[in-house]
Amino acid sequence: MNQSNKPASINQERSQLINRALILNLLRQEGICSRATLSRLSGLKQATITNIAAELIQCGLVVETGLIPGEKGRRSIGVTLNDARYKVIGISMTRDQFYVDLVGISGKVYETRSFEISQTEDPQSVLSRIRTAILQLQQDYADSELLAACLAMPGPYLEDLDRLLFVTELSGWQNFPIRAVLSEGVGMPIYVLNDAKASAFAQLWSRWQEPAVQNMAYILAGQGVGCGMISDGKLVSGQHGIAGEFGHSSIKFDGPLCECGNHGCLEKYCSLSALRSEIRDLLRAHQPSCLDAGNLHDEAIALAVRAGDPVAVQAYEHVCERLGVGVISLINQMNPGLIVLGDALVDICPERLLEVVRRCVEAGVNERIYSDLAIEINQLEESPALLGAGAYAAQQVLANPGMLIYEADFRSGRASSEAT
Ligand SMILES: [Zn+2]
Repeated sequence: MNQSNKPASINQERSQLINRALILNLLRQEGICSRATLSRLSGLKQATITNIAAELIQCGLVVETGLIPGEKGRRSIGVTLNDARYKVIGISMTRDQFYVDLVGISGKVYETRSFEISQTEDPQSVLSRIRTAILQLQQDYADSELLAACLAMPGPYLEDLDRLLFVTELSGWQNFPIRAVLSEGVGMPIYVLNDAKASAFAQLWSRWQEPAVQNMAYILAGQGVGCGMISDGKLVSGQHGIAGEFGHSSIKFDGPLCECGNHGCLEKYCSLSALRSEIRDLLRAHQPSCLDAGNLHDEAIALAVRAGDPVAVQAYEHVCERLGVGVISLINQMNPGLIVLGDALVDICPERLLEVVRRCVEAGVNERIYSDLAIEINQLEESPALLGAGAYAAQQVLANPGMLIYEADFRSGRASSEAT
């Protein structure tokens, strides 16, 4: 009940929750902030901010930090997100490992744990071990409440059906109910996100001050080629969550059949396996090289490219040019201000890949568009998919604080109202 003893209307409640999510997001961006600064940044009245801050402090999402330099030279009390009380979990899975991050609701990473996955391990066993890792974190951090978890994994994930559409890298995972199995007995909402989308989200969270990040694409070039897109500051999902399957744009209509059903998909020409097969072809033609067709591990190829081995350089540049062709199509489709490239194909030799892709794009798009576009290599130190999974879980809490606020209100027997 509000102060006039009338229940708040649905619209009023909705606008109050939107205001709280707005303040939580500003605190996530600013770190520590005074109430006066929050009022200025949000456009909400000081009295409204005072009410919201009191409510967020009561439910534990926010804490006071002590005196900080305030507006107009006055000192005021700072408020910040309460990482000590509320945390989330970010998880990322590759073919041979999974990683689990303990993350504050601010997005700060407190601990990372890594686990091996054997080649023969089935999804039920891997998900059961991820669940055990989540429960172990709950036990180890019993002073904190863990509110949500997000798993980033390869493959186009159909959110509504809780299934991977197809997978080129993980056998047995297609049609497996990932979120449902992972959720069993963990007592918190679980989100599943494609790894390229999670990587794009990590860029949005860490580089929020940069205008170009509001319209960007993260291209994940490794075993396959994926893409996460941010449009107008939001992660693009599409109708079923599979928007951005950039690797399945055809660059050759009569090319080889792909797992997706299309012919000549981009990822058939510019993934790590495409690079290996191109190197093998050149070796078979007796081109001079230090490489051995029986040992084409990533590290061996990377060393050969960096040493200027003619076969390795020729194959790598060819693969990078094809990636450049795909990037041109992407630019024409979504008009990004920033493109970030990452993952194993990029790691072979980032400088050379960047140079080739930039050269292709410069030649293939309008000069005006090229001059206003930044193409970069990923600079985040930790895996962007892992960081993005943690950030996405935290975002779900900050954008939907209603349940925590209502629970605290219910416990204290109060409810609030405010003018905006
Ligand atoms: Zn395809």
